[in-house]
Amino acid sequence: MIREKKRIHVTQQGRPSSSGNNLDPWYSSYAARAAGLAASEVRALFAVASRPEVVSLAGGMPYVSALPEDLVTGAMDRVMREQGPTALQYGSGQGVPALREQILDVMALEGISASASDIVVTTGSQHALELFSKLFLDPGDVVISEGPSYVTAMVIFKSYQAEISHVPMDDDGLEPEALRQRIAALKAEGKRIKFLYTIPTFHNPAGVTLAESRRAEILEIAKQNDILVLEDNPYGLLYFDKEPPKALRSLDEDGVVYLGTFSKTLAPGFRVGWALAPHAIREKLILANEAAILCPSSFSQLVISEYLASADWKGQIETFRGVYRERKQTMIAALEEHLPMCTWTDPNGGFYVWLTLPEGLDSKAMLPRAVKELVAYTPGTAFYGDGGGAQNMRLSFCYPTPEQIRVGIRRLANVVNGELDL
Ligand code: PMP
Repeated sequence: MIREKKRIHVTQQGRPSSSGNNLDPWYSSYAARAAGLAASEVRALFAVASRPEVVSLAGGMPYVSALPEDLVTGAMDRVMREQGPTALQYGSGQGVPALREQILDVMALEGISASASDIVVTTGSQHALELFSKLFLDPGDVVISEGPSYVTAMVIFKSYQAEISHVPMDDDGLEPEALRQRIAALKAEGKRIKFLYTIPTFHNPAGVTLAESRRAEILEIAKQNDILVLEDNPYGLLYFDKEPPKALRSLDEDGVVYLGTFSKTLAPGFRVGWALAPHAIREKLILANEAAILCPSSFSQLVISEYLASADWKGQIETFRGVYRERKQTMIAALEEHLPMCTWTDPNGGFYVWLTLPEGLDSKAMLPRAVKELVAYTPGTAFYGDGGGAQNMRLSFCYPTPEQIRVGIRRLANVVNGELDL
């Protein structure tokens, strides 16, 4: 989109200032791509939701307090004592080799077999999304994604001036027939489809999982149409009962770029994630990583590597599963008790429930009332690039305690009942 140029004039101090109504004096100097970097609804909410009296069902923060502190401090101490100069130094743009080997063990739990040389360590998977978009997206390109989709991935796609085309999901995830039809329609319009961005397992925000029976079919559709698949999988190991189907990447080495992260299975503060990509793309990703940050944090990588080598990391994931399972069950029970007029998804893993309000209610319009009732959620419109989702909201059960969840859902019921009485 081409932005209208605003004339600027230079103030007495020599600082340019906008002559338009925008308060930022540099407004007209930004690149066109910066227009896509508007504060998301989720971001604006954090200020409100972080007040202590508000029960926040809005953010997706992992419950890091379930991580024994000595597991982390022990690993940090050992790293500093045994490899201090390396931990404090620049390192490889591809990531620490020992950690890349260990990442293979993590991915093996989801059926993936790969070579450590095809892994690129990034500053969280968020950074991998940024690098991948930088490599693939030109203005006007189309990214197909589920509708709804992960907010901050869409912020990146938009910042590269791509269009987002949402394909609907049902309880079994992305609908293959709808995908087929969408691709055909976009091609008929002459659009350039660059990739399918998908969160097949414990979707953020929808909470659903792509059924096993659909996985090969979705990959086949992508292959027939020469569309690369970007599989974003931060939650796959955080299942509550049954293990989810194996990752898409386990079924296709050449057509899938897989993103993983330690943010949910360990802690997001380390900011360590990774991309597993076919050889040629991997090379480009390394170059893009080096150009952006020289190398991912040596210290964080070595601490995680030490943690994986010395701690019971699978047991720790089991602990996280238990915490989130209880919170999810609490949320579903509270919804059943207090919000029978709504419907919702019941996830078998991850952090989120996707709620549908009664006909005619609008979650964004309702938010001020919710904040007055001291409960926060994320309006559904945040998760669509096209204004959809007004009747929906995302409820996160990962961070609040079970008691806070019960209180929060009771408050939410007051809000919904208040809206229905209007
Ligand atoms: N993808 C999805 C679907 C997410 O939910 C998140 C975190 N909320 C990320 C990527 C980014 O995670 P990180 O950068 O911490 O690895």
